[in-house]
Amino acid sequence: MSGSYTEELKVAQEAVRMAARVCQSVQKAITTEALAKKDKSPVTVADFASQAIVCRALQAAFPADPVIGEEDSAELRTPEAAPFLANVKSELSHIGIDATDEDICGWIDRGGSHTHAPRFWTLDPIDGTKGFLRGEQYAISLALIVDGKIDVALLGCPNLPLSGVEPGSSGTLLFAVRGHGAWQVPLDGGDPQQIHCTTAETFADARLCESVESGHSAHGLSARVADALGIENEPVRLDSQAKYAVVARGDADIYLRLPTRVGYREKIWDHAGGVLLVEEAGGTVTDVTGKPLEFTHGHQLEENLGVIVTNTRLHDSVVSNVVAAREAEEAEAK
Ligand code: AMP
Ligand code: MG
Repeated sequence: MSGSYTEELKVAQEAVRMAARVCQSVQKAITTEALAKKDKSPVTVADFASQAIVCRALQAAFPADPVIGEEDSAELRTPEAAPFLANVKSELSHIGIDATDEDICGWIDRGGSHTHAPRFWTLDPIDGTKGFLRGEQYAISLALIVDGKIDVALLGCPNLPLSGVEPGSSGTLLFAVRGHGAWQVPLDGGDPQQIHCTTAETFADARLCESVESGHSAHGLSARVADALGIENEPVRLDSQAKYAVVARGDADIYLRLPTRVGYREKIWDHAGGVLLVEEAGGTVTDVTGKPLEFTHGHQLEENLGVIVTNTRLHDSVVSNVVAAREAEEAEAK
């Protein structure tokens, strides 16, 4: 990968690894009591800490690059948030970052840009917050977008074992540089292995994945599409961009994200990391109409609706069936 974004990849990998360590430490400490109370404070702390860590690293290495991240520090600066800020500070100090309140809020706000630029990073410090709270899948997603194209992408997936490895391992870091393939490596270090989408051309054995949350992707519609395509397996539901990761490494053939409500626009940080991984692994990503995703409109995919991710070979059939199923549903609603 010499010469192409070597420094960007190195800095981003190190930052995602550090952010993942903090997320793992916070997730481990979630009590069943907090879960029962639906207490969201662990994810709040980990979310802010993760964004602070990644933006700190990007600021030091690439001070001119804007970052379009999910969080800003407005909430953290309020008096009621003082205990959260103290927790963020203590989590950072556990990994060797000693910072003032102002440092932390400043790093987080480095990620508060919302406008398109010729070169920018996009970050979801914890994608899949609901999965994080349930002790399930979540991801730290980071991507570099240059002239509207995703050139570098990383997903840190602390609860996704490396293919073929038992759960309990350190999780997986997946990364891609445009033109240089998609790779996975244990989150705590090791030798990268190149990953590839499946080569399946038929649907009977195809494996489809989708969001756990029916508010994020229409489960009824995907069942209708699966039925029409003759997919026999039940869909696998998992949170976060871990869905892109499993398609990129051939554990699933299809990821559907079908719009649930009119007017919702997908956020770029929910996709950029995953999209390049899948494309570099030989897959294809479009929206539900078959249009490529456009990362040129600020923080949202303004010109796209939902996403369809496949191993490429299945793509056209999936798109045409999704289009037909959406039309049928619309006609029935009239
Ligand atoms: P997932 O883990 O796949 O369910 O996706 C989590 C992401 O869904 C969050 O980061 C949100 O940004 C995003 N999200 C929130 N509301 C919606 C919605 N109505 N449709 C699609 N995605 C959404
Ligand atoms: Mg997200």
